[in-house]
Amino acid sequence: MTDLILFWHRRDLRTVDNIGLDAARQRSSKVIGVFCLDPNILQRDDVAPARVTYLIGSLAKLQESYAHAGSQLLILQGQPIERLPALAKALSAQAVYLNRDVEPYGRERDRTVAAALREAGVEVQAFWDQLLHAPTQVMTGSGQPYTVYTPFWRNWKSQPKAEPVVGLTQASGLSESEISTAKAETIALPTAKDLGFLWDTELPLAPGTAAAQEKLNAFCSRAIQEYGEQRNFPAIDGTSRLSAALKFGTIGIRTVWAATEAAAVESRSDETRQNIQTWQQELAWREFYQHAMYFFPELAEGSYRAQFKQFPWDNNDDYFQAWCEGRTGYPIVDAAMRQMNTIGWMHNRCRMIVASFLTKDLIVDGRLGEKYFMQRLIDGDLSANNGGWQWSTSSGMDPKPLRIFNPASQAQKFDPDGEYIREWLPELRSLDTADLVSGKISSSDRERCGYPAPIVDHKQQQQQFKQLYQQQKQT
Ligand SMILES: Cc1cc2nc3c(=O)[nH]c(=O)nc-3n(C[C@H](O)[C@H](O)[C@H](O)COP(=O)(O)OP(=O)(O)OC[C@H]3O[C@@H](n4cnc5c(N)ncnc54)[C@H](O)[C@@H]3O)c2cc1C
Repeated sequence: MTDLILFWHRRDLRTVDNIGLDAARQRSSKVIGVFCLDPNILQRDDVAPARVTYLIGSLAKLQESYAHAGSQLLILQGQPIERLPALAKALSAQAVYLNRDVEPYGRERDRTVAAALREAGVEVQAFWDQLLHAPTQVMTGSGQPYTVYTPFWRNWKSQPKAEPVVGLTQASGLSESEISTAKAETIALPTAKDLGFLWDTELPLAPGTAAAQEKLNAFCSRAIQEYGEQRNFPAIDGTSRLSAALKFGTIGIRTVWAATEAAAVESRSDETRQNIQTWQQELAWREFYQHAMYFFPELAEGSYRAQFKQFPWDNNDDYFQAWCEGRTGYPIVDAAMRQMNTIGWMHNRCRMIVASFLTKDLIVDGRLGEKYFMQRLIDGDLSANNGGWQWSTSSGMDPKPLRIFNPASQAQKFDPDGEYIREWLPELRSLDTADLVSGKISSSDRERCGYPAPIVDHKQQQQQFKQLYQQQKQT
């Protein structure tokens, strides 16, 4: 009899270029997909409606892919430790295949669910899929995990990368009687709204593999060639916007890498090749932070650097609320926050600016900002978000001791014509560009436009932060 294999999808919502699914396909023609709507994740207080909307949309597309191949994607709801073994037993599945995770919750979940499945006599096979290199593959000469990016990148880059693997195009799914057995254990795919998440705005990336592949193709045929020069300008569409696809694995990382290599082969100048490499470095940042989370799970709770563990943050709630709502009186900060609040995505340069502003100007604990980002971002991801926040707070794995961004000079450099600010702060559209970008807006103009006065003075706050920082260093 043909083995029935359940493939448990989590952040690999695709049937193509999926390592674990490919292994399942090679073993048996009867591969059934399964996804569990896990209350331990969905009922947290840092879940973004945009992210759930993207997730549900991508699951709908994944169901179509399974149906197209002749099989099914089943939806479970509840504790994975109960739901997975119950389904496997009901269907007499021989094995459950899955791809590994790096996050503390995911790893513990997988350990306990695998134990429960094995206890029930179901085999479990786990694979590395979401990274080009598994954590233990990129280590220092003395066998330690890297805590500095540049040597990590050199090692990571020098290692050969795997090619995309074959997709699931044909499978024998459940029989009629198995389908009715499965019905008792499964639910129909709900909408994000059914789950309590309302999102009415168009997503920055459409759900599913086809949309991600299209975005990748478009990016690799154009913007990647100028990525190095354009990636820092938030008014320019110069980055890939693939972050949600990489977070949920609607596209395979090997497929992404192969596309960059093909673009490099076709490129006509060293400059273009350099730009492509700059983008590849971003993929390496993604892996650096995921490896860090794997080896140092305590990062999820607090800072990497000791001097930030007891930092005397002001945590002024009025300041924090003004930051969240984009009414600090600093145009570049407010434009960025309104971009995220409106579309569920923020440009990387602006993520750095607002994170520096919250921690160094408002002297608010970056963990509050990190959580707020998770509540809003379509691509909210523990490792990348935590890494980005700790980098901006100067509390993480960064050889530079202290970074403080000046919002005015950041805007002058990266939004010199005020295009981005005008897009997200329409009330300031009529202002003179130099005033808009420097933030030196007169009180009468602020009043006329209904735009608040700056809630703090950058110079003063920066000095206060530096003092606190020095004190902490000494203690
Ligand atoms: C404070 C802060 C918070 C952040 N939070 C997140 C987050 O929750 N989720 C997230 O995916 N990224 C996060 N980033 C990283 C980065 O801002 C986004 O990945 C990027 O803006 C997404 O847009 P893109 O897909 O167009 O990126 P591109 O510039 O096209 O980069 C390609 C891909 O590389 C990866 N990447 C790029 N930069 C980084 C980085 N610095 N760290 C890790 N991966 C990176 C992403 O997967 C991205 O999609 C954060 C950065 C900062 C400074």
